[in-house]
Amino acid sequence: MKNALVILAGGKGRRFGQKIPKQFYKLDGKSIINIFLSNLDISVFSVIVISVDKKYINIIKNHPTYEKNKSIIIFSKPGITRQKSSFNALKKIQRFKIKNVLIHDAARPFCSNILIKKILKKLIKNNNCIPYIVHSDRQIEKYTKTDIKAIQIQTPQGFDYNLIFKAHNKYKNLNLSDDASLIQEMKLKIFLIKGDKINIKLTFPEDLIFLNIFKKTIQRSGIGYDIHQIDNKSKVGLKLCGVKLPFPKLIGHSDADVGLHAICDSIFGALSMRDIGYHFPNTDKKWKNADSSKFVIYCRKLLKDKNFYIKNLDVNIIAEKPKISKYVNLMKNRIANLLKIESKIISIKATTNEKIGFIGDGQGIAAEAVVQVYNEKFN
Ligand code: ZN
Repeated sequence: MKNALVILAGGKGRRFGQKIPKQFYKLDGKSIINIFLSNLDISVFSVIVISVDKKYINIIKNHPTYEKNKSIIIFSKPGITRQKSSFNALKKIQRFKIKNVLIHDAARPFCSNILIKKILKKLIKNNNCIPYIVHSDRQIEKYTKTDIKAIQIQTPQGFDYNLIFKAHNKYKNLNLSDDASLIQEMKLKIFLIKGDKINIKLTFPEDLIFLNIFKKTIQRSGIGYDIHQIDNKSKVGLKLCGVKLPFPKLIGHSDADVGLHAICDSIFGALSMRDIGYHFPNTDKKWKNADSSKFVIYCRKLLKDKNFYIKNLDVNIIAEKPKISKYVNLMKNRIANLLKIESKIISIKATTNEKIGFIGDGQGIAAEAVVQVYNEKFN
């Protein structure tokens, strides 16, 4: 059975009081619509149509969720009313021969996959399914002072596709506030199910506080260590943290950049994805004399893929020579560039080995790195 999802993101959100409509408002670098999309179990839908103004399309297209699912995500033009936007989106998916469709407001980013599945299940036997919650505050009629019991209607609202399409077509000149109202207009029975209290509609600026309340942050740390031998016959060629220094080079299969290798290993560690030797084996000719910045870019892509962001990165270089203090800023900028993070969250420190052992004798350079990464989920 083919299910579709319509996401209405064409609203201007005037009550929200920001220049940008609320569904595109960014919190910690993530916009509200992408928070919803990244938590959505997309596998239950054969097509998703997002009603969005051209101006904001790239906010969705630049997010990894779109990248991964672009074969089933399409866009439609918003109308001048919510009802027209909804109808435009339904027309856009006419050719997909959809059985059931869920219509959702992008301003409700905390809608759970459990609620979506409940609605889809209910649609097997009913031609519509509308979630509601009971308002817990006592409500009274202002003038008569009598108690009234009010329920609040939520989205996503589920419908038999042909039925809701017909209703839109019939009442296309009305301006109703949701799609369930069209079913009422047709004098058909509304099938209600309990919605979610947390499936809040972000309407006013103060509603943004819910983003922090519902946010679940997963933090992970990773450690990396690497050591290479110095080729004391060479005079130049040393590479440390992506920067070339006028000192004897290190011996290795790749460019032997201990700094970058330790950073990569810390990231692999944080993601529980083995180590640099597994991803870039030193038996593979492909990596002979390779520029280690390629390895770091690979790690950046892994992080992006798994929706993890770097919180901070701390690197230690252990070497008798060279003194790296005057190169620290160059190194930080290079790493920031490779990982596409801010240089202020990177720390690079150096220490000697107090003339003790292999490093103390000037035969090698070691590096260690500790990284902290985080991933944010809602609902
Ligand atoms: Zn190495």
